[in-house]
Amino acid sequence: MLSKFTVQEVPIFDRVIRFFDFGNQDSLHSIYIQGHLHSTEVNSFSTLCCLVEKLIDNHPSIRIRVVPTCNPFGWEIYLNGNDGRASLPGKMDWNRIFSTVPKKDSTIEKELANELWNLSHGFSQIIDVHTPDFGFPHVYTCEFDNRLLTFDDLPYAISDYTRDGSFQNLNYFEREISSFTLELPSYNIWTSLEQEYWADRIREEINANEQQLSRISTSQPQYWGKMVSLSSRISGVPLLLVKPNEVAKANSEIF
Ligand SMILES: [Zn+2]
Repeated sequence: MLSKFTVQEVPIFDRVIRFFDFGNQDSLHSIYIQGHLHSTEVNSFSTLCCLVEKLIDNHPSIRIRVVPTCNPFGWEIYLNGNDGRASLPGKMDWNRIFSTVPKKDSTIEKELANELWNLSHGFSQIIDVHTPDFGFPHVYTCEFDNRLLTFDDLPYAISDYTRDGSFQNLNYFEREISSFTLELPSYNIWTSLEQEYWADRIREEINANEQQLSRISTSQPQYWGKMVSLSSRISGVPLLLVKPNEVAKANSEIF
């Protein structure tokens, strides 16, 4: 039986994380979707708000939880003119706070990690929505064969470091469930058209999961590769990039 959607909040220190639940809470397959862990990445927040509106209009049958802005600390830090990617005063990358299964702690990093770990408990799939540092849309997975059903048109990056501290990897390696980081484009000004487009794409992915479709389109993505450290010959600035269709050597020059 379909449940109505619910809007709930979980307190974290004197702030809250708001989340939206949809669908059959007993469904075997279920998807947890969060965004805005890096607080600079506002596109992920606006897209997930748009997704929530679409799910309110058209309820999914499977259990879906959407957390459009999962990091109230980072957002506040960013609004105050600081780096939204890192905590204060700890200066930790917000997506490197998940090295081990989180426990309650007095630091904001550990407390946030603990709350997001609890919020995502019991789901069979994780999608963590980000905005890439280098513009183009892509998807991180931990293994090539473990991919989203409807995103093979995007380049895939394989991040198979067990302890990189990301939300995606902790879920994949600790809970042994499907876990992805979906990186939305960041090379243009985000309009309602982009917002609608990517919200529709995520809705299509949910739809494919509802219908238990196997992977749509090709047997492999157009481009894929491992995330490796590369450095620019021109600027000398270290970059993390995907070298499509092969494993690039770490620290090799690419430009
Ligand atoms: Zn990010």
